[in-house]
Amino acid sequence: MSNAYILSDMTWLEAKDAFAKAELAIVPIGAFEQHGPFMTFEVDTVRAYGFGKLLAERLYPRVILAPPITFGISHHHMKFPGTITLEHDTFHAVIRDIVRSLMAHGMNQFFLVNGHGGNNPALEEMIVRLRHELGIKIAVSHPTTMGNEVTKNRPKAALGIHCGEGETSQAMYLAPHVVHPERIVPGAVRGYPYKNLSKSSGIVYPSTWDELTENGALGDATEASAELGKQIIDAALLKASEFLVDFMDKNAKT
Ligand SMILES: [Zn+2]
Repeated sequence: MSNAYILSDMTWLEAKDAFAKAELAIVPIGAFEQHGPFMTFEVDTVRAYGFGKLLAERLYPRVILAPPITFGISHHHMKFPGTITLEHDTFHAVIRDIVRSLMAHGMNQFFLVNGHGGNNPALEEMIVRLRHELGIKIAVSHPTTMGNEVTKNRPKAALGIHCGEGETSQAMYLAPHVVHPERIVPGAVRGYPYKNLSKSSGIVYPSTWDELTENGALGDATEASAELGKQIIDAALLKASEFLVDFMDKNAKT
């Protein structure tokens, strides 16, 4: 029964029952940003929500799935027409307000499912603040990172995350309507804008995507497939569900 754990499918009557049974709320967080010439703006949101649905299905009735947050931190994509970003303060405030609303319905454990790498620094700061300010149990997850053992030996997957093989495969599996497979091209990568800059160089510079790539894509998704996407998502689901069972079991005893 799909509406047994998906809050968006419920009336308040079903929600009353679901909150009475649930121990934890899953909150998917995406973005509305350009994804190269072959994927639409909502890729990160539909991946986070799609993953959240599969995770909630496994853990029902112990969890409830909140609607997705459809905007994120996307300043670095603003040179590409159509991207919409939240300011950091707004992003923090939206998450805090959603958490506090779910707390009002009895939730004190939260699992954020993040579909957009650009949200990571803000979310990792946010969960520390929320844990200590509100006294809740909260963790954030990145399905792409949780599933990266599947792609680690695929040379094209290592080239880049944004519009790369892993992300595109996940989108093909979870939400094929956001992908135009016939338009897939490798990222027209420019490289880092300054000397000695890289992911692991020890120097942090907030590059914008127009500095890094001409067509908005990094990596190479030409061998992406729904089958690969399923493998990545299944690996991430296993890790997330094992973590959450342990998380909820141990928190139930404290
Ligand atoms: Zn993305």
